[in-house]
Amino acid sequence: MRERLAAAASEATSRGRRYAEPPAEYRGEYQRDRDRIVHSTAFRRLVYKTQVFVNHEGDLYRTRLTHSLEVAQIARTVALALGLAEDLTEAICLAHDLGHTPFGHAGQDTLNECMRDYGGFEHNLQSLRVVDKLEAKYADFPGLNLTFETREGILKHCSKNNARKLGDVGKRFLERTQPGLEAQLADLADSIAYNNHDVDDGFRAGLLSLEQLCSQSLFEHEHRIVTERYPKLEDRRLIYEIIRRMINRVVTDLIETSRARIEEAGPESIEEVRSAGRRLVGFSPEVEARHLSLKRFLNEHLYSHEKKLAMTEKVQEVLRELFTTYMADVTRMPDEFATAAAAGDESRRARVVADYIAGMTDRYALKEHERLQA
Ligand code: MG
Repeated sequence: MRERLAAAASEATSRGRRYAEPPAEYRGEYQRDRDRIVHSTAFRRLVYKTQVFVNHEGDLYRTRLTHSLEVAQIARTVALALGLAEDLTEAICLAHDLGHTPFGHAGQDTLNECMRDYGGFEHNLQSLRVVDKLEAKYADFPGLNLTFETREGILKHCSKNNARKLGDVGKRFLERTQPGLEAQLADLADSIAYNNHDVDDGFRAGLLSLEQLCSQSLFEHEHRIVTERYPKLEDRRLIYEIIRRMINRVVTDLIETSRARIEEAGPESIEEVRSAGRRLVGFSPEVEARHLSLKRFLNEHLYSHEKKLAMTEKVQEVLRELFTTYMADVTRMPDEFATAAAAGDESRRARVVADYIAGMTDRYALKEHERLQA
């Protein structure tokens, strides 16, 4: 194990929690954050939320939960190698998608459209809202009362308008500073995880062919090596063998490039990381170009594939109808939401409806839609 970096996040330099709490007897503060996330209701719901394929399309596809676990495990490897705070890294990764709507990006886009006149809906911002406000678990405070560093990592992007309303955690979007190294890492681990598992899921679903995938240099490179060494390998094992090598390649590059950049910049504290003027965790230019190319390829050939589009239209209709139904009659939501929605103006009502819909799992949204139509 590497020594802890001076610029890694630590309890000694932490900006702490919004509501002061006595320290735990046997756990560190970031470990506590991680545990609170794992115990949250929003975390358990991730198992029934779409990553790319709607939950009932098949049992083997990634869900938001398995995606989040893959992100966390990739990031932990890098955190350990670089001497970063592993517990914090893991906490950010496990929480990063807590605000996702049902039905993946189609769901997010639809809810955003419904909320157009009420400040919009953004899943990343919603993840922060879940841990800051919506989880009702503790007697002494709203939300999970996570440390600043975990919250900083969860909020990956934010408009200036929203940043102004968020206080301390929104500041960096106005001042254009960077988040800590653990947050920078969690962001990239997310894209490494989905780039690779979506190749696997897309191939399994028959939406991506080996031939198409070989147009991508990251894939083609490993494909060449594996088929030379194992010419008779069946497709399923071939794909796994290629994917695990692709992950290894980009992760190794990420570790080595980041280590060199951190050494060169030599930050002595997390504050120096925040004011470094550029991100210190990242890929080499060559691997970054290939990684982005694969991302664009998946966008073009998987996320907007016609079979997926048919499903997309159906789920858009479900969410739109749920939204209009609850807006017209808030009492069709459970009591706590109905009361909160009735307490304010139209914009407040819309936000409560969006919170309720965003919290739904895929199958709950479908069931609820059916029930309301009856
Ligand atoms: Mg993600």
